[in-house]
Amino acid sequence: MPDSALTLVIRGGTVVGPEGLTRADVAIGGGTVVGLADAIEPPPGATVLDAGGCLVGPGLVDLHTHLRQPGREEAETIESGARAAALGGYTAIVAMPNTEPPIDSAGVVREILDFAAGGAAEVAVAGAITMGRAGQALAPLGELAALGVTLFTDDGAGVQDGALMRRALDYAKGLGVTLAQHCEDACLAAGGAMHEGAWSSRLGIPGMPAAAEEAMVARDIALVRLTGSRVHFLHLSTAGSVDLVRRAKAEGLPVTAEAAPHHMLLTHAAVAGYDPVFKVNPPLRTDEDVAAVVAGLCDGTIDAVATDHAPHAPEAKDVTFDQAPPGMLGLQTALPIAWEVLSPHLSPERVFALMSTQPAAIARLTATDPRLAGQTAHGGPVEVGGAANLCVFDPAATTVVDPGRLASRSRNTPYAGRTFAGAVRHTVLRGEPVVVDAVAQR
Ligand SMILES: [Zn+2]
Repeated sequence: MPDSALTLVIRGGTVVGPEGLTRADVAIGGGTVVGLADAIEPPPGATVLDAGGCLVGPGLVDLHTHLRQPGREEAETIESGARAAALGGYTAIVAMPNTEPPIDSAGVVREILDFAAGGAAEVAVAGAITMGRAGQALAPLGELAALGVTLFTDDGAGVQDGALMRRALDYAKGLGVTLAQHCEDACLAAGGAMHEGAWSSRLGIPGMPAAAEEAMVARDIALVRLTGSRVHFLHLSTAGSVDLVRRAKAEGLPVTAEAAPHHMLLTHAAVAGYDPVFKVNPPLRTDEDVAAVVAGLCDGTIDAVATDHAPHAPEAKDVTFDQAPPGMLGLQTALPIAWEVLSPHLSPERVFALMSTQPAAIARLTATDPRLAGQTAHGGPVEVGGAANLCVFDPAATTVVDPGRLASRSRNTPYAGRTFAGAVRHTVLRGEPVVVDAVAQR
């Protein structure tokens, strides 16, 4: 290894590998990990990042980010969302298609990839399953797949028409892409603003029953069995959904699932003050549901932690609970929350698998793809020859959530004033430090 190739050394950390933890410095050059060894001597001019006490893992990958561009740039832009992602330890995020216009044409895909070039995190794009996400006619899945789109979803709504979903699954199978479902039976959920249960009755807020989610999870599992096509279940939130997916996996069906940090931590009791910051879809559920989601993450039923980062500008969100749009910020708090909830049960390797390796595999971001603005490989492993997309996390530090200091253009975090164990110290994208000592560099 010629020293001249080495431009960055991450010093003094513990590397999180699939087989365990190794104390090593990480040498990086040309966007690639070029050395893993004790006490690497940086050549003159190389940047050194201190990782003392830190875990050095693969950069995180978010399967579920709402960037709001095009259409709602006052809430978030691709640039601000990518910066929030980098500060949260993410090196790649999948942009959801419920923009205005929605991502149902090649033109919008190209526009987003162009805007994302040179940002603080790589942005992949999920396409819509149906035109305009209206649930009536299929979007041109083949045309979008040819641009490198591998995930399709009408997220924000589920595909209600089972026959249309079946056709989409047949089509997706031929294209080798994955459909991701926002599981919600619109008729069962109609008019609801929170979870239907003891708290909705007490507060007088119309509820959405757990059955509205579970009915669609069950239907789609039946359609997977029928078509042999794969489905990814977005933001599972109920014990019944987790159980359905667990049984589908035991049967050998090609399903994967994700859960959001707020469904691992918060319950419907948070709505007691009618603060719209706690309005989200799927809604915050019961203690039993939260425990089931955590158990599903621990036993492998749920494959990924995904943020469902959903920025809303104050003028939209700071209204009455029933009028407010659903959604919460998530990118800058996901890893500390996952660490706090999961690290008592799981090794650091497993936490990074849930937040990086497995979501990268689901979105097929594990290899370079020249179609996607030269997208590099995400999800690790951190090894010599691997892409230098890295997250340096200090488990002994704390993250104090100050809404005014978040990189997002919006302020709708449900964690204002809370402190979580652990903090992202540095993020490295394509071998370049994009976050240094918790400060964004782009
Ligand atoms: Zn959704």
